[in-house]
Amino acid sequence: MKLALLGIYHETNTFSRVPADYKAFEIYRYSQIRDEYLDSQTTNAGFLQISEEEDIDVVPLIFAITGPIGTITAEAFDLLTKEMMSLLTQNGPWDGILLSLHGAAVSEDYPDADGEITKRVRNLVGPEVVVGLSLDMHANISQEMADNVNVITVYRTNPHLDPKIRAFECAELVAKTVKGEINPVVWLETPPMLINIVKQFTDEEPMKSIMDNLQKTLYSPKILHGSVAEGYPYADVEEMGMSFISIADGDLSSAKQASKWMAEKAWHLRENFIGDTPSPEEALSYADKNYTGISEGPYVLMDVGDNIGAGSSADSTHMLNAAVKLGIRGYLQTLCDPDSVSLCESAGMGSTLTVSVGGKTDNMHGEPITVKGIVRTLSDGKFEDARPTHGGFKYFDGGPTAVLDTENGHTLILTSLRCGNTSREQMYSVGVSPEEYRVVVAKGVVSPRPAYQPIAKEIILVNTPGVTTSDLTFFNYHRRRLNLYPFDPTVSYNTK
Ligand SMILES: [Zn+2]
Repeated sequence: MKLALLGIYHETNTFSRVPADYKAFEIYRYSQIRDEYLDSQTTNAGFLQISEEEDIDVVPLIFAITGPIGTITAEAFDLLTKEMMSLLTQNGPWDGILLSLHGAAVSEDYPDADGEITKRVRNLVGPEVVVGLSLDMHANISQEMADNVNVITVYRTNPHLDPKIRAFECAELVAKTVKGEINPVVWLETPPMLINIVKQFTDEEPMKSIMDNLQKTLYSPKILHGSVAEGYPYADVEEMGMSFISIADGDLSSAKQASKWMAEKAWHLRENFIGDTPSPEEALSYADKNYTGISEGPYVLMDVGDNIGAGSSADSTHMLNAAVKLGIRGYLQTLCDPDSVSLCESAGMGSTLTVSVGGKTDNMHGEPITVKGIVRTLSDGKFEDARPTHGGFKYFDGGPTAVLDTENGHTLILTSLRCGNTSREQMYSVGVSPEEYRVVVAKGVVSPRPAYQPIAKEIILVNTPGVTTSDLTFFNYHRRRLNLYPFDPTVSYNTK
């Protein structure tokens, strides 16, 4: 049995002004995919795993990935999809295709870029070839995606700790279908609801109940597999929102019933999915007042408006500005600011300098703030983490990095690349122990949890402005469904 592995992986924040052009993508071809991903916990690792365990040849062809930034340019989408199709043609024929997509990709020409990819693959390989698709839990799943593949699996954890497991299940279902052991049929149910990013942690309510309901449907012998996608509220597209998938063996009515049952349960909880988070001043004051010392650890404040993992600029100063004004000491955060890193490098380790940091990408993430400090460390910004991380990634690169200890009692880790706060090695690798701080700011919502939950006294989500703010009234949506909760609180959902 011969299966192709390929994909474009992009979570598109359509409100971000940083375009995903061709050069923004890291492109892996053939054995480079195995070299990069085999010992990770990613989707690609799960797809590759099936060839280790069964007599199946998984042929990695091309995988293109870039951090969650703005819309994919028409040129990048065209070049990447053309190469995908030509590699599929050159290396075929295939028994099956394993598609490694995110599910919230948007290109200039195709708002449903993932749907377009599944359509092109289906048109190329024809109806007989089995196509499996494994998606991120933030996918905005369209009917087009469901119609063009035989199997869809989605991560079941946010933070994402299970991409490899879910992709392996996808490959297993594809293999069984190729062997003629099963006949998977997919029902996609999309109730008209969008859930706030601050309510997407799967270990806490209301998501916990949603995931428990999924588990209940899986007990049914008729159901082969099932998924919940939380959706991605920063991709302004028609299919934006939550969705439910059930896969049954030949019996579409069972799949439909299971998906609708899960969707209806979620619909009744819709009011619980609205964001309700404190301001920077409220969160910082609370943390400062309740801090009890190093034994219980720092307060970790999530800078939701500057969620690097969701496409933000990584240089927001809204939290830092409030910390300066309130005189909070023992405060640690990262800022992407290549110019300030260069100034620190020129000054040299141990020297004192005054720099204007952050707030330089756009007008949504605060103003630059002038600070005076001592350069503690300079580094190349590369680090690796063997602990569990969001998405299963192991290698990280913040680009040239400088640690600045300011006279306000703040430590700023200045990076040259946008690098999420999903690993504590980001701090340890430059000689900083986050455990020793009063307040640690992590730019994100859920993705920093695996790194910071173990050391945090408490994690608080903070309502900061920015391109990933939890306040969805901040954005002008043009393409979303008109009848969508919570934008339209009176919308009804016909479950029949
Ligand atoms: Zn995600």
